[in-house]
Amino acid sequence: MNLDIKSKIKEEEITNLAQELIKIPSDETAGEKEVCEYLKNVLKSLGMKVWLQEVLPNRPNIIAEVVGDKVGKSLMFNGHIDTVPIGNIEKWSVDPYSAIIKNGKLFGRGATDMKGSIASMIIAIKFIMNNLETFNGKIIFTGVMAEETTGLGTQKIVEENIKADMAIVGEPSDEKIYRAHKGTMWFNLFTYGKLEHSSESNSESNNAIMNMMKLITEINEIGKELETIENNLVGHPSINIGLIEGGTKQNMIADSCKISIDRRTLPEEKPDDILDKLRMRFNELRSVDDRLRFNLEIDTIREAVEVAESEQIVQEVKNAVNKIVNKVPTISGMKATTDMSILVNQGNIPAVIYGPGFIKQAHTIDEFVEVKRLVESSQVYAKLLLNILMNN
Ligand SMILES: [Zn+2]
Repeated sequence: MNLDIKSKIKEEEITNLAQELIKIPSDETAGEKEVCEYLKNVLKSLGMKVWLQEVLPNRPNIIAEVVGDKVGKSLMFNGHIDTVPIGNIEKWSVDPYSAIIKNGKLFGRGATDMKGSIASMIIAIKFIMNNLETFNGKIIFTGVMAEETTGLGTQKIVEENIKADMAIVGEPSDEKIYRAHKGTMWFNLFTYGKLEHSSESNSESNNAIMNMMKLITEINEIGKELETIENNLVGHPSINIGLIEGGTKQNMIADSCKISIDRRTLPEEKPDDILDKLRMRFNELRSVDDRLRFNLEIDTIREAVEVAESEQIVQEVKNAVNKIVNKVPTISGMKATTDMSILVNQGNIPAVIYGPGFIKQAHTIDEFVEVKRLVESSQVYAKLLLNILMNN
């Protein structure tokens, strides 16, 4: 079929849509609903069936689908409509919500993570709707809430049994295709002590902060050990203590201490095993010092994931990139955690991450995405859709 994707996917259409999305603030405090309402009109105008799915009060997902005339494979686009907060606005050299384009770069919160990507997806779907009279299979677009915090949006997609044969997650993928990513475990560790006047303090005292110090030393050792483990797609696992609080005042022996830990996991690691091993290490210390009573409290677990290179979606995206960019893409793994793991591990939908921009430009001051990357991604998405919807 002679369809000239490169001349028909227009830069302006993508940037206009991306700009409109950036202009609607949607961090975890508010705005996801407004983004959904805006997208609802855009997607309806393409001729798609569109509905919102309330996940939390006033915080919906948006879903759109179009079914072809004949049976075939279905492809799901997954993009999150929330962003991280802008942080200190004084530090931005541009207004984070004005979505200006300067020197080929589109600036603003969510430019690369990932409202730009959502625009690229939708313009690719538009290309199909405008240029194909008939196709096989199904296109599903899912704009999900709360990816940056809990993943509840994509969780809901999976729970409500919104299915596809394969999916593409449009997070910035550093000009690569990611078929794996690390997982994230957040938990709190507590130690305890005996409250006493500080003048009573000696090496026998039961001080929660001193107790925690011993566990922190152990965590530091564990961190070194993790550095020696290597996964060829995502690198090594890690452990970070991001917060510490404890005690009441300098003249009181501390009776409690808490640290918050972030543990990045590999696809082959199981969260339960990780926790068991940690408890075992701490219990060994406690067996020689009874003061080291501790409590491990899980906050969030988001799993790591890996999809086989032979999966159709990996090969289809590889072929599409190859055709559009004229280069064989690197297939690798991402260090950050995304909703891909929910689609794959819980939804049984083989997925990859491919999207415009670079992960290092996300979550930053003066976030931007290069316009040419938006266009390139949109063309790749269009090519991918063509290949899947026409050939199966
Ligand atoms: Zn993201």
